[in-house]
This record gives sequence, C-alpha cells and structure tokens, in this order.
Amino acid sequence: MKKFVLSLCALAVASALHAADTKRPNIVFIFSDDHAFQAVSAYNDPRKLIETPNIDRIAEEGMRLDRCLVTNSICGPSRATVLTGKYSHKNGFYNNSNSKFDGTQVTAPKLLQAAGYQTAVIGKWHLISDPTGFDFWQILPGQGVYYNPPMIRNGERIKSEGYVTDIITDASLDWLKKRDKTKPFLLMCQHKAPHREWEPALRHLGHDKDRKYDEPTTLFDDYSGRGIAERDQDMTIAKTITPKDMKLVPIPQQTPEQRKEWDAYYGPRNEAFKKANLTGRELTSWRYQRYMHDYLGCVKAVDESVGRVLKYLDDEGLAENTIVIYSADQGFFLGEHGWFDKRWIFEESLRAPLLVRWPGVTKPGSSTRDIVSNLDFAETFLDAAGVPVPKEMQGRSMRGVLAGTPPADWRTSFYYQYYEYPQPHHVRPHYGAITDRYKLVQFYGTGEDYTELFDLEKDPHEMKSVFGQPEYAATEKELRAELSRLRKELEVPEKDAPETFGNKPGDGGGKKAAK
Ligand code: CA
Repeated sequence: MKKFVLSLCALAVASALHAADTKRPNIVFIFSDDHAFQAVSAYNDPRKLIETPNIDRIAEEGMRLDRCLVTNSICGPSRATVLTGKYSHKNGFYNNSNSKFDGTQVTAPKLLQAAGYQTAVIGKWHLISDPTGFDFWQILPGQGVYYNPPMIRNGERIKSEGYVTDIITDASLDWLKKRDKTKPFLLMCQHKAPHREWEPALRHLGHDKDRKYDEPTTLFDDYSGRGIAERDQDMTIAKTITPKDMKLVPIPQQTPEQRKEWDAYYGPRNEAFKKANLTGRELTSWRYQRYMHDYLGCVKAVDESVGRVLKYLDDEGLAENTIVIYSADQGFFLGEHGWFDKRWIFEESLRAPLLVRWPGVTKPGSSTRDIVSNLDFAETFLDAAGVPVPKEMQGRSMRGVLAGTPPADWRTSFYYQYYEYPQPHHVRPHYGAITDRYKLVQFYGTGEDYTELFDLEKDPHEMKSVFGQPEYAATEKELRAELSRLRKELEVPEKDAPETFGNKPGDGGGKKAAK
C-alpha cells in the first residue's frame, strides 16, 4: 500500500513536471562574432550597407533594442559575461591574451540544465577551458577558421568540410532534431562570422555586384579634439589592416576547388588593384570597399542561418513557445574613426545588436532605447525558465523592458571597462559611465591617464571631448558621482588584479593572436 501511494506521488510529480515542461519556453540564442548593428538592416544605418531580412524578422515579430551595451568590448570577456551575468572583475575573464574561463562558476546554462532544460552550445566558444553546463557541445578550437574548420565535439576533435557558418547551422539543426522532445531546451548557436579576416562563403563572393559603399563621415578622422589613446591606437584601415585581411594572399584552409572559385572572384580585382598603385586616401578608400564586401558577405551567411533556424521552429510548431534572441558579442567599427575592430567605449563598439522575439511578451515591431546589456542575458534566460536568479549575478532580467513596461527602477546609466593592452591593437585600458546622453571616460594604467567627456546629443560621432569646459562642469560633477556609485555598487576593485591587462606595457607585447 505504502509503495502504491509512493508511486502515485511520483507520478503526480512527474506529470506536474511534464505539464510544466510543455509550458516552459525554449530558448534559441543566436550569437555572432563582431556583427555591427550598422550591418543589420533593422537598425536603419544611413549607409544602407546590407539587407538582413531574416534577422529583421525577429524585430518585426518582436523587439529591436537600440541600447544593448556590453561590459567589455571583446570576444572572450563578452562570452564570459553572457554565461555568468557578471562583469570581468567578477568572472575573472578580462582579455583574450591570458584569461581562461573558470568553468566551475555558476552559469545560466548550468542552472537551466539542473532545472531540467537540455542545453547545447554549437560554434564559437573562445573561452579556452572546455564548456561546462551543456549536454552537448561542438565548438571551434580558439578562433576557428572559415573554411573546412576542425571542431571539437564533446571533447573529441572532428573534421568538417564546407563553410563555417553553414556547418554551425547544420549542427544546430541536427541537435534540435535529435533532442529529447519531452524537455525544454537552451540552444546557443554561436557563429564565428563576421569576425576578421572576414572570409565570405563562395556563394556570396560578388554579392554586392561591385557596389560602391558610402564612406562613413569619420573615415579620415585625425583624432583632434581627443587624447593620446585615440591617436596612438593600432586599428586603422589605413595602417593596420593586412594583405590577408584584404584577400591579397591565399587562405591555406581552402580545398583546390574552393580556391579556384575564390580566385575567379578576387584574382582579376586584385590585379586591377595592383596596377592602380593607389596611395594615401585612395588606398584607404579601396581598402574600405574591399572590407565592406567581405564583411557584409559574411553577414549574408549569418542572416541565411537565422532564416533556417526560424523556418525549423515554424515547421516544427515550436515558434509559439520559443524565445529567439539574436545578438553579437560586441559592436564593431565599419570604418568609423578610420577603424575596424572594437574595444572602445565609443558607440559602434559598445553597442551590440539585440533583437528578441518572445511570444506573449514582446510586442511585434516594437523597439526601445532602454539601456540593456549582455550582463542581463543570463538573468533573462533564468527568469524565462522560472529559475531563481542567483544574487551574485550583476544584471537583471530584461522581461519588463521586452514587454515595453520596464520596472520603475530600471538602470539609466551603465558601467564599462576595457583592459587588454598593448596588444593586439594598442587600445589603452579605460572605464567609464554612460547615460542616454553622456559618456565620462577615464583612461588609466599607462602613466598617461586622462579623462574625456562626450555629449552624444551635440556630438553623435564622438569627435570632441568637452571635458573641462565650463558649461559642462555640472554634468561632469554628476557623472563623476555616478561613476563612483557604479564602481561601488558593482564592487570594482580600486586597483586591477595583476592579470587583467594580459600583456603589460614594456613586456615586449609578444604578438598575440588578434581577436
Ligand atoms: Ca568578437
């Protein structure tokens, strides 16, 4: 009798769990690497660089977030923040030079897994240690390569032939097809593209029919009106970009067949370029055009990937109970200030694209300027699954923002901090406070510390620091107080831990892999 009662109880619990599991939403998190919001058509960049109909569909059926700010604008640190809901100084991953993710820490995937979710991460990982908290993982070693990329599947190295974005999409769909359909899931589909060196799929060579792209108004920025950090960086299209970036040298990973098709596109164009013998501004302009063709070609494959995932959710009847998120690990400069790459507190690098479709929560076609962050992703996943958010996480669930009804005490300022210096791009460490209109930036740690203040309303391209100008004295005082408050609230140490820079000034800065 006792046994019978027990098994009845077990059945009741199991059926309650089952009922819950048909209700708890699935989460599909599509995350690309270095995808600038300027290259998502939903963001309406004035240059109209590209159409991304599939990514835009998430915004049309959900929300476009216009102020998604990252905590530390480079690859590994952003990923560590997404998993932990914490800043670099709390999760220990500061830079791409010497940080290694401590996989024993609490992460959203681990908590979801413990709560009965199936979890998978497929694609770019870039956190050095093996993934933890995933039932299935298939990742690129390190940065990965675009053509015929080796991957690591649950610890085992595997070969693959084809284009990286397609391979990551195929593996993601394959995992979805094979999943346990009685459980909700978290799928993190993480693309390498459009990361440097921006190598498009063969089918996207010439996608723009040799269109001439408008140049950003700041392509020939001379960095006057700002300090030594802006002048002394090494990330310009004019000086830093390499022959490999520009497709002037072959890609070793391609097969002879792939190489043939590749050369058929680039060969004649490279010949014409060499004959033209360009210098100065003309050379920079040519490089900008080549950069845009290649970068946007990579984005096209990502957009197709999003389309395939959305179609799968439609075909399987999963769309209604699945949250779809599209974002990138940070923003990226597409020639603004003469730059490629990221790292800076400036808008193009600080802001990641974020589009969310959450049926029943997001209003189709909505948008917001509320400040959200990659710091909030873990908390949002947990909230969606009904899992309590641990106190140690430093962000908040975005549910209210996504519903168009942010909590009254939602953040109106944001803290940013960047560490990696001097390699690979010689961008000086800095931290700062950001509001809807202003940015107060403190450069530190190199013996040439200084402060800048930007007024985005009057200077949307961030070309002139107004720090020290009498008419901004009150603003400066307010922002200083806000910066101190944020640093205290987030428990930022007064002095950085010794490992934070990655490679210190004067260590020779042994050329580390550019990230
Ligand atoms: Ca990145």
